[in-house]
Amino acid sequence: MTSLMLRDIEKIYPNGTRALKGINLDIRDGEFMVFVGPSGCGKSTLLRMVAGLETVTAGEMLLDAQDLTKLSPADRDVAMVFQNYALYPHMNVKSNISYALKNRNVPRDEIDLRVAQASEMLNISEYLDRKPSQLSGGQKQRVAMGRAIVRKPKIFLFDEPLSNLDALLRTRMRVEIRMLQRQLGITSIFVTHDQIEAMTMGDRLAVMNNGIIEQVGAPMEIYSQPASAFVASFIGSPSINLVKCEMLNGVVSLFGQSFNGFKSVPDGPVTVGVRPEDIQFTEQGEGEITVTLTESLGAEEIIYGTTPSGEEIRIRQRVIRPVKIGTRIAVKFAKSKLHMFGGDGQRVD
Ligand code: ADP
Repeated sequence: MTSLMLRDIEKIYPNGTRALKGINLDIRDGEFMVFVGPSGCGKSTLLRMVAGLETVTAGEMLLDAQDLTKLSPADRDVAMVFQNYALYPHMNVKSNISYALKNRNVPRDEIDLRVAQASEMLNISEYLDRKPSQLSGGQKQRVAMGRAIVRKPKIFLFDEPLSNLDALLRTRMRVEIRMLQRQLGITSIFVTHDQIEAMTMGDRLAVMNNGIIEQVGAPMEIYSQPASAFVASFIGSPSINLVKCEMLNGVVSLFGQSFNGFKSVPDGPVTVGVRPEDIQFTEQGEGEITVTLTESLGAEEIIYGTTPSGEEIRIRQRVIRPVKIGTRIAVKFAKSKLHMFGGDGQRVD
């Protein structure tokens, strides 16, 4: 059983940057937790603090009720996989994978067994004698994974490990890492700025912004009930349509459609969101919205348009009949598909 509790974590760097502000999070045994957010939101800082590579300014980190902050990085029983692989260039694959075990005086037979098991799992058995310079990016990433696996750590920490791979390989490694983690059952934290990676890999996501966690939840919970306008816009591709509107007596209008009955929402400015796939349109040639661009993704099509007042709209649909640029369309969507955020950006419905 390995769980990690983060309590009121703060990080202020020596230059005064407040990178983390009151982080509270429980990571469960065997869970694949993803820290996701835009560049600079503090996700690497938080991961590096768990690894012991950054000091904790304030707060507690408890690994199975043990205070992590009092332990040196070497004593933490965590294994980290880095974006740049961090392999020793002069050592072959086998030595790279077994290095930490040798340092810990693990018996030779045990090292050989663990290296053989890990390299089999990762499909790198035939490269054990090669140097890192003789490997492709994907193979290097597997070696880095192997090095983490043989240590049998309590927690895997992944710091944007797929960023240096091409798109195809990234998709494959995404699946492989997830399957391996399931098989091994090791509690893991994975940092990424890529929301698709986060959605597809995480048991749960912690969506971060500007040093705080805006929402924690399973990918579909976050997608269907975003807690803030920031989370709504960050998760989902193409991103949600967010329109600044005025609520008056429970009535709000967007894209030419009025909705009533928002009794609990006070009058004043609101931001209303509707996901591109929740919008239907009719191609009457006389609608209010002009199609400005279309993108065909094969089975699906993204349609970009503008309203007479200059609002932009994104619609996603299964391709039935491609829509021509310049066409005038009318849109409709259900009230139940609206996401309502107050003046402070927090969900209000
Ligand atoms: P992310 O991983 O989400 O891109 P980081 O954790 O790297 O974000 O950075 C969070 C904030 O802390 C950023 O504003 C960044 O500029 C700042 N920061 C990161 N490392 C340092 C450092 N060593 N010294 C000062 N500020 C830092």
